Amino acid sequence: MSQIQIGLLVLLLTFLGVVGYNVYLHESTTSEISYTTFVELVEKGTINKIHLKGGQVKGSYHAGSEFSSFIPDVAALLPVLKKYSVEITAEKDSANMTGFLNSMVPVFLILGGYMIFSRMQKGGKSGFGNTKKNIFNPRTDSNLRFNDVAGISEARTELVEIVDSLKNPDKFSTLGGYIPKGVLLQGPPGTGKTLLAKAIAGEASVPFYSIGGSDFVEMFVGVGASRVRDLFTEAKKNAPCIIFIDEIDAIGGKRSGGNASGSNDEREQTLNALLVEMDGFDSDQTVIIIAATNRPDILDPALLRPGRFDRQVTITLPDVKGRHKILEVHAKKIILANGINLSDIARSIPGFSGAEIANLVNEAALMAARHNKSAVEISDFEEAKDKISLGLERKNAVINEKDRRVTAYHEAGHAITAKLLPETDPVHKISIIPRGQALGLTQQLPLDDKYTYSREYLINRIKILMGGRIAEEIIFDHQTTGASNDIVVATEIATRLVCEFGMSSTIGPIAYMQEQSGFLGGNSVMKPYSEKTAERIDNEIKSIVDQCYFETKELLTSNNKFLHKLAEALLVNETVDGEEMDIVYQCYVNEVKIEKKLLNTARRI
Ligand code: ADP
Ligand code: ZN
Repeated sequence: MSQIQIGLLVLLLTFLGVVGYNVYLHESTTSEISYTTFVELVEKGTINKIHLKGGQVKGSYHAGSEFSSFIPDVAALLPVLKKYSVEITAEKDSANMTGFLNSMVPVFLILGGYMIFSRMQKGGKSGFGNTKKNIFNPRTDSNLRFNDVAGISEARTELVEIVDSLKNPDKFSTLGGYIPKGVLLQGPPGTGKTLLAKAIAGEASVPFYSIGGSDFVEMFVGVGASRVRDLFTEAKKNAPCIIFIDEIDAIGGKRSGGNASGSNDEREQTLNALLVEMDGFDSDQTVIIIAATNRPDILDPALLRPGRFDRQVTITLPDVKGRHKILEVHAKKIILANGINLSDIARSIPGFSGAEIANLVNEAALMAARHNKSAVEISDFEEAKDKISLGLERKNAVINEKDRRVTAYHEAGHAITAKLLPETDPVHKISIIPRGQALGLTQQLPLDDKYTYSREYLINRIKILMGGRIAEEIIFDHQTTGASNDIVVATEIATRLVCEFGMSSTIGPIAYMQEQSGFLGGNSVMKPYSEKTAERIDNEIKSIVDQCYFETKELLTSNNKFLHKLAEALLVNETVDGEEMDIVYQCYVNEVKIEKKLLNTARRI
C-alpha cells in the first residue's frame, strides 16, 4: 500500500518537476534560484530589487549580479519583501504559463499535489523540480556547544546528563542507570530549542538527524509513518545519536479517537509509528529523541508517558540578563564600536526571543555596512531595532509604558498576596515580560509535591488570583481585561470547593458535581439537585468569591507601600525572583529604600 503511494509521490514530483522546469526554461539567461533560496536571500538582506511578472521574478543582488526565480504566491510574500526593503517593480503577466498552471490545479488536487503546492506557498523546504527530496534531513555533525546557547542555566544540569549518557552509554547501562529516551523542549518560537538540540549533539559529538513535524503532515497517507520507521532504522545504525523532531505538535496533537473524516489519518498514523518506534528500541541503542514544541498543551498525553518524552525542559523567553548573554554570543560575530553597552540594549528589547536578538545584531551590522562604518554603533542598533519592531507588529507588540506599569502592579498584587498569606506556595518568579497572550506572570512553586489541599490553601489561591485585579483597582482605579483568566480560575476553584470538596458550611459535605471538566476524570458521580439547591450553590460560590475579594482588597490596601516597592523593582528588572522579592520585602518592613545596587547586581553581569 504505502509502496504504491511512495511510487505515486515520486511520479507526481517528477511530473511537477517537468512543469517547473518548463517555467524556468523560458527566461533563464540569469542564474536560476529556488523559491526557498530566494526567500532566504531576502531575509538575509542580500537582495536589492526585484521585477515581478506573474509568478516570475527577476532581480539583482546588492552585489550586482542577477537571478531569477518563481514565486508561487506573490501576495503572501509581499509583506516579507517590504520588511526587508526590497524595491519592487511589476508588470502585467502576459505569459500563458500561469494559465497553464491554473488549469493544472484540479490535477494537483486530484493527486494530492495540492499539499505540496500549499507547502511551497508557505516557503517549505521542497520546491518544484525537487524530485528526490530526502526522506529526512541527512545526518549532520554539529559543532555547536552549550556555550553557543546563552541563558540556559536552568536547563543545563539536565542537559549535561543527557550528553553524558550519549558519551558513555555503557557506563549508564552497566550501572543500571536510566538513559533518557525522549526529551521535550517546550517554549516559544525562536528561543533556541533547535540550537540547544544541536548543541547537545555537538557536546556529545554524535550525529544529528532532524525532521520537522509538519513535514509529515503534508504527505500522502502512509508515507509519514514509513518515514518515521526509516528515520529510526537509520538512526539506530548510527547510535549513539540524536533525532530531532521540530514542531512535534504537528503530528503529536491529541488523537481524535473515532474521527471518520480521515483528515487526520496521516497524522495519527505517523504519531502511532513514532510511539511504536520509541517503545521499541533496546537500552543498548542510545538514540535520544529530542522534540521541540511551542504548544505543549495540545500534545497527545501518550507522548509524555514514561519511556517516551518523559523529560520536559521548558525554555522561556529570555529576561534582561538572558538577553544580555545572547547579545554577547552574537555580538562576537561582529565588530562593535567602543563603549557600546550591551546591557542597555538588552534592557531596551523586552519580549525579544533569542532568534530576534540574533536578527537584531545581524541587522545592526547591515545598517553599519550600509552607512560605510567600520564598526557597529549604538545608532545602528537603534535603527535595526525600529526596523524589526515595526516588522513585528502584533506578533511582538512593543509594550507601552502604561501597560507595563499596569502589568507590574497586577503581578505585584498576585505576588504580595501570596507572600503575606499563610499556607501558600512560595513565590518563585514574577515577570512582566510578555509571553503568549499574557503580559506578565507570577509563578509559585510548591515546596513539595502536594496530594491534598487544605481549605485554607484553596481560599488563599482564590485570593492570590484576585490580587492582580485588586492591585490595578487600588493604584489606577480601573479594571482591565488582563485579569480575565485569573477570574475564570478563581471561579472554578470556588465552585469545586463548594460542589466537589464539600468544604462549604452552608452546603455541607455533599458532592454536587458540575459539568464534567477534563481533569475531573471519568469516574465522577453526579448528584442531581433541585433548582433551589442550584440557587444556594450559586449564592455560596458568590459569597466565597466576594469574601476573598474583600479580604484581599484590605490586605493590599494596608500594604500598598509594599505594592509600590515591588512594582518599582519589576519595572526596573522585569523579573524578580523569590530571593529578590525577600529583599524588597525587608526594605518594606524596615522602611528603607531599595538600594538600586541590590536589584542590579543580582541580575546584571
Ligand atoms: P527555536 O528552535 O526555539 O524556534 P532556534 O534554535 O531555531 O529557535 O533559534 C534560532 C536562532 O536564534 C538560533 O540559530 C540563534 O542564532 C538564535 N538564538 C535563539 N536562542 C538563542 C540563545 N539562547 N542563545 C544564542 N542564540 C540564540
Ligand atoms: Zn493575573
